Amino acid sequence: MNAVESVIAELSGQLGPKGLLTDVEIATRPAWMGNGGEDSAPAVLRPASTEELSAALRICHAHGQAVVPQGGLTGLVRATVTNGETLALSLERMNAIESIDPVNRTMTVEAGVPLQVVQEKAEEHGLMFPLDLGARGSATIGGNVSTNAGGNRVIRYGMMRENVLGLEAVLADGTVVSSLHPMIKNNTGYDLKQLFIGSEGTLGVVTRVVLRLRQLPRSQNIAFVAVPDFQTLTSLLSRIDAALGGTLSAFEVMWKDYYELVTTAPAKNRKPVTTDAPYYVLIESLGSDQAADEARFETALTEMFEAGVISDAAVAKSQAERDAIWAMRDDVAQNARNAPIQAFDVSLKLDDMEAYVNEVNERLQSRWPKATNMVFGHLGDGNLHLITGVGDGSPEARHAVEEIIYGCLRPRGGSISAEHGIGTEKLPWLPVSRSENEIALMRTLKQALDPKGILNPGKIF
Ligand code: ZN
Repeated sequence: MNAVESVIAELSGQLGPKGLLTDVEIATRPAWMGNGGEDSAPAVLRPASTEELSAALRICHAHGQAVVPQGGLTGLVRATVTNGETLALSLERMNAIESIDPVNRTMTVEAGVPLQVVQEKAEEHGLMFPLDLGARGSATIGGNVSTNAGGNRVIRYGMMRENVLGLEAVLADGTVVSSLHPMIKNNTGYDLKQLFIGSEGTLGVVTRVVLRLRQLPRSQNIAFVAVPDFQTLTSLLSRIDAALGGTLSAFEVMWKDYYELVTTAPAKNRKPVTTDAPYYVLIESLGSDQAADEARFETALTEMFEAGVISDAAVAKSQAERDAIWAMRDDVAQNARNAPIQAFDVSLKLDDMEAYVNEVNERLQSRWPKATNMVFGHLGDGNLHLITGVGDGSPEARHAVEEIIYGCLRPRGGSISAEHGIGTEKLPWLPVSRSENEIALMRTLKQALDPKGILNPGKIF
């Protein structure tokens, strides 16, 4: 019996047959989206409670056994990859909604619950959990917390960080830190929950979360507009935000190439506007009164049109039309037509974006004349998604593309990850966005919370 096998034997005694899976059972589990999943881990730990997880981590800590916490395995930066020496940890058996409190507008859940289940539960009570992203059916709350997930409505409601009031986490040595506070305001020293939000499972394993809920909006208005140039686009953002009086909930921009990609066969989406323009925007407003909000929405768009800020607009008139516009925006699968592709999610100041994208395109095309670069994203959050295809998926080509994408960010002080995280995928590029002293402080925190380095080793830095 080697070292890993003897730890597994000890864990098996602690967790029981349902709480620990090995070879055969693992082979039948899904590992999608190129994450590597747990297919190479010798075992998956599946504790049923915080106490069981604490006991399991105590054993791992005593033996210096590495553990990789995993959520719904829908991440994009290989933050959950395992190897033959590391154990996968899944909280899929800890998937209860423990309580919902409509008065204080909070919900307390276990970390293994899928995002969509939380959204639906909130709606049953006339409330909303506003975080939303395409992987909602599989992504878990624990994963959303650990990666500080973003998505489509950050402009109005913030990222996961802004929607967590309290949490419970288990540290590497099995210590349970219960910080399940339900208050929005709580200035009692260090905000400990933030250590575990966005740290990709490297500082502790999140087991339970108190989520902040909002009132469920009673109206939704959506327009799809064409914009004549980039400067006008930034002006549209501030003008429409002002005109909609705080109800703007999405401002999703598409560069022309992406709009063409998702509206031409084999894509099934129809073009809401046919005007030829360099930029297109999905504008969404969530409010309280469908008729009154619709009137205000249309007045605002008319003003924008008269001011020349938009050159064409289509306003969705039914739920089916609203859903169709969102479906077009979210049809990122069309990018497979340019395979092999690389996906990036960067953020930078609005006034740097146009020159940044132009510089990236020039550098890509001078090296690969047929290169494609599909750009779209949450412009209101300063976040762009770039999906490049240069016709070469070799490690050398991939690195050269990364050098262009990240190299052009460096002088502009941009971030190599707006919402996907670092994982192992972006680890070599962290110094583009973080100073030596920042990374040193991250290491100090890691050392303090996980001195043996057993939690998700080799991720982030
Ligand atoms: Zn996104």
